[in-house]
Order: sequence, then C-alpha cells, then structure tokens
Amino acid sequence: MKHKQTIFLAIFFIIMLVAIMAYELFLYSQAEKNIYANLQEIAKQDAQKIKLAIQSHENILLAIAQEVERYQIQEKEKIFALWEDYPQNHVFTRMAIMDEKGNIVTNDGKVLDFSEEKEKFWASDTVEITEPRKSKIENKQIHIYSKKVKVVNTEWVLMLVLENENYQQMFSENIFEGKGHTYLQNEDGNIMATSNTNYLKSKEEEIEENVSPQERKHLYQELEKLQENLQKQKNGNMKIKAIQQNYYVSYRNIGIHNWSIISVVPENTIGEGIYSIIMVSTSLAFFIALCSMIASIYIVQQNNKKQKQLYELAYIDILTKLGNIHFLKENAKQYINKGMYFIIVDIEKFKIFNEQYGFQVGDQILIELANTLKQECIMACRWVNDVFAGFIKTKQMSNTLESIIRKMREKCLGGHVYKMNLCIGCYPIQSNTETIEYIINQALIAHKQAKGNVVQPYYIYNEQLKQQLLKEHEIESKMEEAMQKEQFIVYYQAKVNTKTQIVYGAEALVRWQDNNRIIPPKDFIPIFEKNHFILKLDVYILEKVCQDLQKRKQENKSLPIISVNISREHLAIENFLQEYINIIQKYAIDPQYIELEITESAVESQNYALGKIIQQMKKVGFQVAIDDFGTGYSSLSVLQSLAIDTIKIDKAFIDNLEQDTTMVEMIVNITKKLGIKTVAEGVENKKQRDILLNLGCDSIQGYYYAKPLPAEEFWKTIKHDSFQ
Ligand code: C2E
Ligand code: CA
Ligand code: CA
Repeated sequence: MKHKQTIFLAIFFIIMLVAIMAYELFLYSQAEKNIYANLQEIAKQDAQKIKLAIQSHENILLAIAQEVERYQIQEKEKIFALWEDYPQNHVFTRMAIMDEKGNIVTNDGKVLDFSEEKEKFWASDTVEITEPRKSKIENKQIHIYSKKVKVVNTEWVLMLVLENENYQQMFSENIFEGKGHTYLQNEDGNIMATSNTNYLKSKEEEIEENVSPQERKHLYQELEKLQENLQKQKNGNMKIKAIQQNYYVSYRNIGIHNWSIISVVPENTIGEGIYSIIMVSTSLAFFIALCSMIASIYIVQQNNKKQKQLYELAYIDILTKLGNIHFLKENAKQYINKGMYFIIVDIEKFKIFNEQYGFQVGDQILIELANTLKQECIMACRWVNDVFAGFIKTKQMSNTLESIIRKMREKCLGGHVYKMNLCIGCYPIQSNTETIEYIINQALIAHKQAKGNVVQPYYIYNEQLKQQLLKEHEIESKMEEAMQKEQFIVYYQAKVNTKTQIVYGAEALVRWQDNNRIIPPKDFIPIFEKNHFILKLDVYILEKVCQDLQKRKQENKSLPIISVNISREHLAIENFLQEYINIIQKYAIDPQYIELEITESAVESQNYALGKIIQQMKKVGFQVAIDDFGTGYSSLSVLQSLAIDTIKIDKAFIDNLEQDTTMVEMIVNITKKLGIKTVAEGVENKKQRDILLNLGCDSIQGYYYAKPLPAEEFWKTIKHDSFQ
C-alpha cells in the first residue's frame, strides 16, 4: 500500500516537473517571439529613419548640383555659398569640390589630393555615398556624399562630408538596455555604421579581435547565411549560433541603395529579463508543486492513519492489544506447518471474576493472560471474551501448557490474589495443507474435552481423543431417544448389614440397554454430566425406583431403603428438590425409604450452599449419604456440620484394607462418634467383610454379596421380610 503511494507521489512529482519544464519552454518561446518582435520593430524604425535621412542628405546635394548645372556656376566660392547659405544643409560638416585631376578644395580652404582614388568618384552619375573612412582633416569617421556635375567644358565632383556620428544618432538608443546593437550595412555587406561604437571596424577586424580562431569559421558561416537571407528576402529573423553565445538577429532592407539594418541581441543578456520571469514563475510553480506535494503527503498520511485506525478496529483487540480472530485467520498461513501447535485457551468460570470483583478486575485478568500468551506463543489472539488462541512452537508441549496454566493459577492484582483455572485445547498441526478452520475445529474438540475438567485442564488432540469424541457424539445423538424408548433401566445392588448379613437396602444404578448391549454408566454419565442430561436421567431413575417401590407396597411387601445417586449438577439448581418431592408424592412413597447419595467432590464446591440443601433434604424426610468418601479432601469435621446420615467409604480404601486398615478404622471410629452410619463400597471377598465387621463398619455393598442386578432379579433374591 505504502509502496503504491510512493510511486504515485513520484509520478505526481515527475508530472509536475515536466509541466514546469513545458511551461518554461512555453515562456521561453514566448520571450523569443517578443525579442524578435522588438528587434524587428527597432530595425523597422531605424531603417525608416535612416532611409529618410539619406534621402534628405541626397536631396541637399542634388539641389546644389542642379543649381550649379542650371546656372553653369564656375566660381567655387559661389558653389560653396549654395551650401553654406542654408543652415538646414549644415548636417554636413563641410563641402568640397574635386576637379578632373583629383584635387580637392574645401569650402574652408583646405586643399587635398584625391588623385589616387578619384576614379571611384567619377564612376557614377547618381549620388554615391562612401563607406566610413577616416577624415584627412580631423580625427573623425566620415562619409562622403558625391555627385558629378558638368560646368561649361569641365566636370567636377561635388562632395558633402557627413560625420559618421550622424548615423549613430539615428539608431534607436539603448536597445535591450544597451546590450543590443544595430548595424547599417551597404550592398556589399560592409558596415556603414553601428549604434554603439564611435569608430568603426570592419566585420572581419571585429571578429579577428574578439572571436577565438576555432569559432571564427563557424561565425563566418553563420554571417554568410545571414547575407544569403538578406539577398533572398527583404526582412526576417534568425538565430545565429555562435559557440560561446547565441544571438537573435532581425534584418531589414532599408529601401535605398540596397542597404540593410541588422539588429542583434545576445541570447543571454536578453534572456535575463525572461530568466527572472522564468525564475519567478518556476519558483512559484515549484512552490505550488511543493505545497501540493506536502498537501498530498499530509492527505496520504491522514488516509494511512485512518486506514490504520480502521485496521485496528477490524483486527486489533483494544483491551489486550492482541490481534483478534480475523487477524489470526488472515495471518495464519505462515504458521501452519508440521511441528507447530495451535491452542485455544479460556479461563474457567471467568464470569465469576466479573460478577464478584467487577469488570476492571476481569479486564486486568484478561490482560495478564494476554501477556502470558504473548511470551509463549509465536502469535496469539483474543478470540472473544475470555477465549484466546495462538500458535506455539515447542518440543515439550505438555510442559509449555503446564507452564501457562501455572503462571495464571494465582495472580496478585492490587494486593488481592485471584485463583483461576485455565482450560486449554491444543492441536498439533500435521501439515501445511491444513486450513485454519480445520485447525480451529480440532483445537476446539480438545478444548471441549478439557472444559470443566479439574484433573486434566488441557488436552492435546490425538486419534484416541477423536475416537472418544466420536463415541460421545454418538451417545449424545442417541440419549433423548433412548429415554423415550425407556432404554435406561435400573439395576439394584444390595446393601447388607455387616453383622446380620441381611439385605436392608440397595443402591439404584443406571444401565443403558441399547438393543442387546448393556452400556455401563462410566461410558455415558460423564458425558451427561457435561451436557446436563444427567438432570433428566437422575429424576427418571428416581421415578423408576418409586414405581418399583410402589409396586412392592401394593403387593404389601416391606420396603428397603433405596439409594439414588444425585448429581452435582442438580445441587447448583435452585429449588431442584421440589421435583424430587413431586415424584415421591406422585407414587406416595415415604421419603425415609429414599437415600440421596451426594458424591464427596460436591462438598468442596462453592457454587451452592450444600449444608442448606442437605437440611432441606432432611426436612423433607430423605436420608442423605456422602458417596465415594475419602477421594476428596473434605475433613470429617466438615461432615459434622452437614446433617448427613451415612458416609460411603470409597472402594479404594476397601481394596487396600488387607494391607492397611488405619484409614477405614479411623473413619468408622469418628463417624460413630458423630452418629453417622458407614457403608463400605466394593467389598469383594470374605476377608474384607471380616475386617469391616471387626472395625465396626455398619454395612457393606459389594460383589461379595451381590452385583448390581436387574430389578426383577434383585427383588427375587429378597426374602419377603428381609427389610423388617
Ligand atoms: P457409585 O455411585 O460409586 O456406584 C458404585 C459403583 O461401584 C457401581 O458401578 C457398582 O457396580 C460398583 N461396585 C459395587 N460393588 C463393587 C465391587 O465389589 N467391585 C467392583 N469392581 N465394583 C463394584 P456402576 O454401576 O458401574 O456405576 C458407576 C457410577 O456411575 C456410580 O458410582 C455412580 O457415580 C454413577 N451412577 C450410576 N447410576 C447413576 C445414576 O442413576 N445417577 C447418577 N448421577 N450417577 C449414577
Ligand atoms: Ca453411589
Ligand atoms: Ca460410590
């Protein structure tokens, strides 16, 4: 993008420069036109003036000559008087008369010998004007106007002497501030007068003096061209290209004697005025170009800024300054390689931080997590709320994930320590052909598996996990229908009084009869706990138990105490107990025959007030047991505060009983003191049973006495009065 803008600016600048140059050329050609127009005007005016002057000079001479011939004046004094008596004739300095021998007499009495060049003056009958020559009398450049006259039998030449200055004065003054010249040249191309030099040199002399030998040839060629032009047409312009300097030239035939005026100005001196105009206009154009450049740079910068802002809005998370999911997707390609890991991370129950401590603390925690991820990830983004994602390259992925979890486990913010659990789903990328969507999906699968899992808060996606998830998916897709088709059935496992070995009750355990296959609860209960279907199932099982008890009641048989498992999920639901009450009332079952088993791990949870719930249960009349005791961390003193009837010692202690009895002994002793009954779970042999009897454990549940049995079978094994 920036590259494009630079090119655009460069092109813009070049166009501006070309435009300025074109403008300069235009100005220059306009200036040239002006120069030629001026030169032409000067030449025209000068030609006119000089022509008139020469005509009037000639008229004076012609008038005297006519007079002399008409009156055949022979006295030279009289002839001189013809000139002297008229002041308008005094444009000439003096008058002279030359006789046939070439002797000259002037009006002021000078006698000169012109015999050597006399022929020149006798050649023509019309008025002749000489080229500038040095006066033989004064140190001056002069021209001689001459006219042959015939008086009686002799011929004389009348001569009027004109100082060259007269021509000079006729030229326009100060051409181009004195930098220009005007030349008057005769038919032979020789200079008659120039506008600014007092004494004349021939063209050749001037060139010899001022022009280097290398340039001379060139200059002569140019001058020849000028002469040719003068022959061809009466007036025109041309540029003479000398080596050091070019000249603008305007030439014009003055219309008499085939003489011409040539006005010349050197290119550079004339240029000065134009140059200053060009300089000013160029500087102005430059200034404008610069201003528009600065303006466009400013606009471009503003645009860039705006685009950056838009980009940030679209791609950057304001709170954590990480990219968002769009940013991640746009840039993912470069990170998708074998050996790279993709993670999805979130904070378990993040909502609670916001609700309990306010959004500021919530935000701070998110920033902390973002910073932690920045350290570990090659690229991290904030997806949504408390969900982050990123790419990690490491050889020890488990270690890296554990380190992230560890770093975030406890955060001290503003003097308060916040405890939190992360949940991470990780997908090891297999090849660079995988799409980011696919990668995200796989990581989400692993993340889903880790969600709510206190024991293993991170999962790295693998084939086994995939299979497991497929199975879970299959279970989830079938569960609703299974319930409608009554595929969930109740098995009962007897509970036996340790001393009397009489069955006094049973635990209701669910089984899933899927066609001919019985699916054990471990394959579906954890899934139902995650998707909350357990809520439905627990109630369903209670109803089935109540139906069985009602049937037994109707048969007038005594009733056992049936334990039903109540999931942790229930406890978090307000007023869940009402549904339980409704069911026992529906089947008119006395609540004392129902024992609710709450697993020990539920005791630790802060999500609900367990003590209160148990009190309510007791108030209704249910029996309450703590299941799987010993697997959690609840102390016996905590149990004391809970109004429970029974604790069920977890199978793990029973399995170990033959090696070590201390734990069970302790539990039994203390519970006895607290007035709580004990049930040993998973008793499989007589040895265990005997130990438990010795220790004083109240009752036993285990394969040693009975496996969980289908209802019909179970009831069959029970003697009519065994519960009395
Ligand atoms: P639990 O509540 O601890 O149930 C006792 C489990 O131990 C039962 O497994 C039972 O068959 C097994 N068991 C009892 N005696 C022995 C023995 O001597 N040896 C061995 N190896 N096992 C013994 P089951 O029926 O597979 O149930 C597993 C778990 O599923 C239960 O553990 C309970 O947590 C859950 N569950 C079963 N039915 C329900 C239900 O209706 N609702 C809820 N929420 N959970 C249920
Ligand atoms: Ca149980
Ligand atoms: Ca148990």
